[in-house]
Amino acid sequence: MSAFFFYSLSYILMSGCIIYPPTEFVSAGLTIKDIFSSWLGSENEFFIQYHIKRSIITLYVHSILPLGYALGLIVFGHVDAIRLLLGHNNLWLMILTCTILLPLYTLYKILIWSMNNWSKHPIVQNLALYCNNNNNNNNNNNTVSWTAIASDINVEYRRIDKIIITTNSITFIIATDNWIIKVMPYRIFVAHQSDTALVVNKSDTHDMSPVTRGEVQFINIEVKPTRIGAQSFDIRLNALDFKNLQDKVSRPITILQDITFHKTLLDRFIDNFKEQVEKNPLYETAEELNQCIGCMQAPSNVKLYKLCSSGIGNSGPEDCMTCYCRPMWCIDCMAKWFASRQDENAPETWLSSKCTCPVCRARFCILDVCLIKQSSEIQ
Ligand SMILES: [Zn+2]
Ligand SMILES: [Zn+2]
Ligand SMILES: [Zn+2]
Repeated sequence: MSAFFFYSLSYILMSGCIIYPPTEFVSAGLTIKDIFSSWLGSENEFFIQYHIKRSIITLYVHSILPLGYALGLIVFGHVDAIRLLLGHNNLWLMILTCTILLPLYTLYKILIWSMNNWSKHPIVQNLALYCNNNNNNNNNNNTVSWTAIASDINVEYRRIDKIIITTNSITFIIATDNWIIKVMPYRIFVAHQSDTALVVNKSDTHDMSPVTRGEVQFINIEVKPTRIGAQSFDIRLNALDFKNLQDKVSRPITILQDITFHKTLLDRFIDNFKEQVEKNPLYETAEELNQCIGCMQAPSNVKLYKLCSSGIGNSGPEDCMTCYCRPMWCIDCMAKWFASRQDENAPETWLSSKCTCPVCRARFCILDVCLIKQSSEIQ
């Protein structure tokens, strides 16, 4: 019995790795598309044809998994165990029949799709929506046209300036000059940018580590083609990829009013910086403050005022120092300045690192940045 459970567990694990390959499998080339790569051809040359083939082979491989399990039971002699578990021989036979029928049905479905130059395949049907003569009764026209759309997409996919965003090991988002494409295991969605509305309708933040403030933010974009019959679909991406996508897409991406997210690493840092500075004590002054010399727009509202304990006791070269400059910067500019002096490759260390005053070069840390409170008395 325990051998039976061991076999079942390993089979389920293996199937999981085939259906949803973990990164180790992907990098080792143990995915369906790697194993069948010679049959699939070149994705770069024939993007659409490649994905039609890839989707059917994926579907087929998935459909034979239950049969593989059942055959394994027979080969390893676990049939008695399963009979005991199910209670009836008939039930076991029924399950066995189903596992045999499933790949056969899938094969039949694939045959139907492949007829008439794949015209019934879901990917082709999606493309056919973009044939302008789609509504004609002339079916021959239709078959000619989807290949025209496909070669359009293939040509754009070959260009090096397309962007590919990996959502997970089985889902990709591709934006070419005119198309937005979502690649999934069994199908792909395509939308032509000219008649598509893009709406950011959700954002969610995940804390990777509370210590380093390494948060990851994801946004959900609904892609709504206005073409009759076209299905809308969702794309989910890291918020930091948003700008990439927006730059590539010719239409503005609408962000629903109550959705906030950080479009860039700097955006996120500025918010964290402000949040931290707000916890520091206020610096009170009666001095009249000028415009910030960084942006010339906001009034100056921060003062570098040494409050941290560094340098007390034994002093070292990395200690914070006293800055005697008058307040000249707004908090946004100070945050940008701070970020610009940090190691670009280690953003999680920025907040805990030091920086120097833009004017007198006195070293300071985040604890030494104070917001200003103007005292009302006139001197
Ligand atoms: Zn400023
Ligand atoms: Zn200074
Ligand atoms: Zn300090």
